[in-house]
Amino acid sequence: MTSIDRNQQLFDRAAQVIPGGVNSPVRAFRAVGGTPRFVQRAQGAYFWDANGKQYIDFIGSWGPMILGHGHPAVLEAVQKAAVDGFSFGAPTEREVELAEAILERVPSMDMVRLVSSGTEAGMSAIRLARGATGRSKLIKFEGCYHGHADALLVKAGSGLATFGSATSAGVPPEVVQHTLVLEYNNVAQLEEAFALHGKDLACLIIEPIAGNMNFVRASVPFMQRCRELCSEHGALLIMDEVMTGFRVALGSAQSVYAKSIPGFEPDLTVMGKVIGGGMPLAAFGGKRAIMQHLAPLGGVYQAGTLSGNPVATACGLATLQEIGKPGFYEDLSRKTQAFMSGLQAAADKAGVPFCTDSEGGMFGFFLFPELPQNYAKVMTTDNKRFNTLFHGLLDRGVYIAPALYEAGFMSAAHTDADIAASVTAAAEVFQSL
Ligand SMILES: *Cc1c(COP(=O)(O)O)cnc(C)c1O
Repeated sequence: MTSIDRNQQLFDRAAQVIPGGVNSPVRAFRAVGGTPRFVQRAQGAYFWDANGKQYIDFIGSWGPMILGHGHPAVLEAVQKAAVDGFSFGAPTEREVELAEAILERVPSMDMVRLVSSGTEAGMSAIRLARGATGRSKLIKFEGCYHGHADALLVKAGSGLATFGSATSAGVPPEVVQHTLVLEYNNVAQLEEAFALHGKDLACLIIEPIAGNMNFVRASVPFMQRCRELCSEHGALLIMDEVMTGFRVALGSAQSVYAKSIPGFEPDLTVMGKVIGGGMPLAAFGGKRAIMQHLAPLGGVYQAGTLSGNPVATACGLATLQEIGKPGFYEDLSRKTQAFMSGLQAAADKAGVPFCTDSEGGMFGFFLFPELPQNYAKVMTTDNKRFNTLFHGLLDRGVYIAPALYEAGFMSAAHTDADIAASVTAAAEVFQSL
């Protein structure tokens, strides 16, 4: 490092004008300590910080950069779109093309509405579910993140009869009184909750593979019960695929479950991240009969000045075209699995309890001998040991999420040499654990 740390200088300067110096809390490195890296530029699998140091990027903007940074076809599409205009507030052909491209790949959706962030998409999907069913209550699971809408910033109450309490200041209790928070992968509790509240439930929202508690899959029997109970009680099943959509498979996580549960489909799907290819773009969609409740067709209001933005849709469309090419996910999965098995072997050699899981281009690893099934277990991770691992990798130019409860992401731009170098770095750090 040079004698002047430009990252620290920028962070100090940022802290004067932006709360905490960041525009999204996890970026501040509070969980792991130290100075956030200010990114100067990125290309392929790498980015360079304000000191000019290079990192292998396993976050990729928290998932969107599935092709790596600055993919030539995407860059060209964005540049061409920008010349034609940034925003019109009027419909364009490109948003129809993007909607068609999404629906073609995810058959559970008949219609889709484009918005600008995952938060907006999740919030709107819940309003739609409430409007379409005429009910108010909803189920979410501890450790699943669905954006920062008021009704979703909730932790579990003291029992199944009591609803949640807000996890953020500024959220009135009245706003979360309809949100029931349950334990992920707990079938018995789920059944009990439906028995008690089934007739009042508008929807159940779930991250099928929860990437906001590192990487925890909903078990197949659990997902199957979610589907069955929603159908039996007339509640809508909403899959939040903001992270997993087009990240774990071309058909998204729902296609992974459909392989084990014949005919499996959610009623509504929430998307974001990859569908924007790095631009502010998200979506929610589902069955025609439900989507027709949205304004201007129906009574559920939802709108956006920048929704379906022409530059963002160009970026998303070019990204979806690239990932639709034959062999894309096979190659991505192979690399993700090679990285995970490399880390596992290095941890085993150093005698560090360790386990990993992955699907497509999304992965997680834990300093545990076996995979956790819920948030409470994930949060028993030894924070100090995780932080040693994080900073050891960071010093060696390998950038993973700065918190133990976040997933990791492979891109098409990562090479076998990048993976080998990252495993070598991890092997060194494991020795000191
Ligand atoms: C990132 C994420 C969101 C929120 O998306 P933003 O674009 O950050 O608002 C919602 N749900 C899941 C599962 C996510 O991973």
